[in-house]
Amino acid sequence: MKNSYQIAALPGDGIGVEVMDAARHILSTLEPRIGVRFAVEHQDAGAQHYVDAGVALPESTLKACDTADAILFGAMGLPHVRGADGTEIIPQLDLRFHFDLYAGVRPIRTFKGLPTPLASPRAAEIDLVLVRESTEGLFYARGRGETRPDGVYDTMQITHKGTARICEFAFRLAEQRAERKGRPGRVTNVDKANVFASMALWRQIFETAAGKHPGVASDSAYVDAMALNLVMKPWTYDVLVTENMFGDILSDLIAALVGGMGMAPSADLGDKHGLFQPAHGTAPDIAGQGKANPTAMLLSTAMMLEWLGHRHGDQRLLDGALLIDGAVEQVFATGQVRPFEFGGSNGTADITHAVADHLKVVA
Ligand code: ATP
Repeated sequence: MKNSYQIAALPGDGIGVEVMDAARHILSTLEPRIGVRFAVEHQDAGAQHYVDAGVALPESTLKACDTADAILFGAMGLPHVRGADGTEIIPQLDLRFHFDLYAGVRPIRTFKGLPTPLASPRAAEIDLVLVRESTEGLFYARGRGETRPDGVYDTMQITHKGTARICEFAFRLAEQRAERKGRPGRVTNVDKANVFASMALWRQIFETAAGKHPGVASDSAYVDAMALNLVMKPWTYDVLVTENMFGDILSDLIAALVGGMGMAPSADLGDKHGLFQPAHGTAPDIAGQGKANPTAMLLSTAMMLEWLGHRHGDQRLLDGALLIDGAVEQVFATGQVRPFEFGGSNGTADITHAVADHLKVVA
């Protein structure tokens, strides 16, 4: 079994740099506890790197990501930095396409001790995962917008292969969650099959995948109804699967349900590579003030350990993931810290140190 795992760390811009420091601190605190070494190597990328070096995602960084065991990513993009075509510098999209990271996994759950914007006491039960197809859909149009005399046309791409693999991924995830939680799983497909032929095909492929997983309950909803239901009764959902653009929008909505972007981790997974990053952006409004909530980054780090643990059959990493999750839960449940995002007065350093202190305590 490996005793050292190579992690390519791309902090990026704004609070990406601050929350990456938090992740590094937690990984080094965890090392002696689980007996694994993490060789975390800094890699340049992002909007500031574009300003400094004229390239947002250097070849050397791509190479390092390719050979690393996993990629840990902060956040990239700065409002005043634009590429030659006027669009934002978004290397995370390039990485998704380059490494075929087709499954965007965005889990959210409520944490004891932190308020949610929903009044219902059932908000305490929120525990769902949104699975976003990340390589086609409406984002296929990125860089391909067709300019005609009357305007610009962006095309949505829904393929048999791309849809089948993301639906299969969602059902397998629901099976794993069902086993872990000791209750039946459910996948809810989110589409707009009543309007678009591409989405009608998506639904047909979803239903074929559902037929292969009779042990998992399945249903479908239109994306507009889902926007309503995710506010009215989010605690009823388990796994959602959706097209790229719908997933982009609904990810922010579900992050809001549990109090803010600082609580929403994510993973972008392919068959060979895994990239782990907080769902939030570079938050220029709070960057450099030490106010960023590092929780999303720490939970993304836990997702990385879980993914690596399954991939390498390494129980120490699976234990490490549970330790981080448990430590995060504890610091909020005991009221030890409350992030600025929740009206509290604890920033990145306080939260990181509180989590690290829990990790040092040997049970
Ligand atoms: P992007 O387009 O990359 O998503 P954005 O500026 O639209 O970037 P975010 O950077 O995610 O979106 O910021 C949205 C809001 O959430 C901002 O007010 C920001 O301060 C807040 N926010 C985001 N992440 C955090 C965090 N980790 N801790 C505290 N507040 C955060």
